[in-house]
Amino acid sequence: MMNRKTLFAAVIGLALLAGVPLFTANSYYVHMVITIMIYAILLYGLDIVVGYTGQVSLGHAGLFGVGSYTAGVLFMKLGAPLWVIIPASIGVTAAFGALLALPALRVTGPYLAMVTLAFGTIIQILINEMTFLTEGPLGITIPKPSLFGQKLSEQGFYWLVFALMVLSLVVVHRILKSQLGRAFEALRGSPVASDCMGVSVYRYKVYAFVISAGFAGLAGCLYAYSEQYISPNTYNFELTVLFLLAVIMGGRKTRSGALLGAAIIVILPKLLDDLELFRIVASSLAVLISVGAVVGVLRKMTTPKAMAIPVIGTIALAGFSFWLESITDWRLSIFGLMILFVVYYLQDGIVGFARSLFARKSPAADSVSVDGLDTSRDAVMMAAKAGTHETGTDLLVANGVLMQFGGLKAINQVDLRIKRGTIHGLIGPNGSGKSTMMNVLTGIYVPTAGSIVFAGRSVVGRTSSDIALSGIARTFQNVQLFGEMTALQNVQVGLHHTFDSNILDVSLHTPRYKREEKAAIERGMGLLNFVGLGDLATEEARNLPYGKQRLLEIARALALDPQLLLLDEPAAGLTAPDIKVLINIIRKIRDHGITVILIEHHMDVVMSICDAVSVLDFGQKIAEGKPAEVQADEKVIEAYLGGTAT
Ligand code: ADP
Ligand code: MG
Repeated sequence: MMNRKTLFAAVIGLALLAGVPLFTANSYYVHMVITIMIYAILLYGLDIVVGYTGQVSLGHAGLFGVGSYTAGVLFMKLGAPLWVIIPASIGVTAAFGALLALPALRVTGPYLAMVTLAFGTIIQILINEMTFLTEGPLGITIPKPSLFGQKLSEQGFYWLVFALMVLSLVVVHRILKSQLGRAFEALRGSPVASDCMGVSVYRYKVYAFVISAGFAGLAGCLYAYSEQYISPNTYNFELTVLFLLAVIMGGRKTRSGALLGAAIIVILPKLLDDLELFRIVASSLAVLISVGAVVGVLRKMTTPKAMAIPVIGTIALAGFSFWLESITDWRLSIFGLMILFVVYYLQDGIVGFARSLFARKSPAADSVSVDGLDTSRDAVMMAAKAGTHETGTDLLVANGVLMQFGGLKAINQVDLRIKRGTIHGLIGPNGSGKSTMMNVLTGIYVPTAGSIVFAGRSVVGRTSSDIALSGIARTFQNVQLFGEMTALQNVQVGLHHTFDSNILDVSLHTPRYKREEKAAIERGMGLLNFVGLGDLATEEARNLPYGKQRLLEIARALALDPQLLLLDEPAAGLTAPDIKVLINIIRKIRDHGITVILIEHHMDVVMSICDAVSVLDFGQKIAEGKPAEVQADEKVIEAYLGGTAT
């Protein structure tokens, strides 16, 4: 859903890039731009892992090396041609990506950084030691490839790399805009919610690393041809850090950011070799930042205080550049400072910063076409699965459920029978085990003892995503939206199960993918309209008011086409009129044949819409029945209502 202007700018930019060998015959510059494009291919892939799924990888230099050495070894040992070497490098490196994904399934954050770093180091050591295959420290020499029987010149190779870079760009872009990209982004937003929307965190983390590694493999292979000589010490710690910095500096979640980041890490070290050039760039940067700051302050997009340090910093850098007599001693320090500056001040990278400067705050931008959609409220609620069963039979039966945390029995021998087509209230004081019950029902916790049967199948021991796909959807007491995604995209994650398209369909935009994506937009808009959020479809979830976030969670849960919907305190924090709307929505959901379990503190809500109510206290069920009966029960009054009545 790129808008026309961006597309136009991208095409112009790429056309200029394609023309570089025509403008200059200097092979130094041609080679430099080739390196930038190769790095960009790797960074597109790295951004999938870092920018979208929010994992850290310091193993990508290692993967880059695997790609290079696959190419080198295949050429040296077998004399394999280009059209064999490219797919082989991608395939072999993707397999290594799966290996790298394994630690990501267990650890995150700094621990993951350490493990992936170790992975990269091990690869480097292996390349060094496996001399029978890799020639070890001696390295491998590999000539420029031949295409259609002709050995490529530097120019020809440039266009080959350019073509593959553009191809990678299109493929990555399409993947990231598809249901696969939404799944990756959802992992970052909330892993728990992803699982409960049927998007297996486990599976998509592996996919992300594998796809990312595939691009690293392609980049590595092209790098081997470009340098015509590879040796183990290229693929070191410095390179891996540089890659990560390039993603952060360029700006995560943008393809132009990846290209810019690649350009920075290739050009900056060279720039810092040449004092004259450094002076020019530092001065231009100071002017640019100062002008940017003035514009920003005038447009009230930023405050003078916030801009003070960037402006002073860049002016100081420019002054420093003229004071310097030789740059060689200062290279690393300057490099480090610039990086620190960008990472600290431009957390969305350079492209992210530029975007925020030029952002026209119009909700219509990048919007989806909603013309001609059937937005009549009920058209969307095709809960066919739920409607096919007679009401009144048991949908969920839990027996003797025990959930123990250390010595605490958060749920103690609870039985629960939920009839189809009803709204079943679950109430009790704070800490009585209500949310824990939901977590047990949705597979987030495995109960210590007891059985839970949903629609004739046991739930115990199955994964959250599996349970979700079998028909249990939920919302969360502390809202778990995918913050950086729009309202519509949030709902579309819930619709993930409606996609059969694989990565090829997505990359090629086959009719199947187009049909599924179109249907997902229509369904998504329908569900948003159902909860009254149709106008906010393109708003990022984190920018919605709290009450609307709760409604969005309900729409997303409905996208799963559930038979059973679990609502954990949906009215918490809502205003009185909003609660009225909510009650209406819940009733309508039930009328469409979806069974509801409702945890709620607002007694008036519970009493007005529940068909049956169970009461928990200290993990035990102390009462059950029709709302009026429960309300009159002495034990309940004592444990729960009593506290508020007196
Ligand atoms: P409710 O939703 O009824 O307010 P909860 O189900 O959230 O209550 O919590 C029930 C009890 O279980 C509380 O005492 C809580 O501290 C405890 N508990 C919940 N989850 C965990 C956990 N993961 N580890 C340890 N204790 C937990
Ligand atoms: Mg709770």
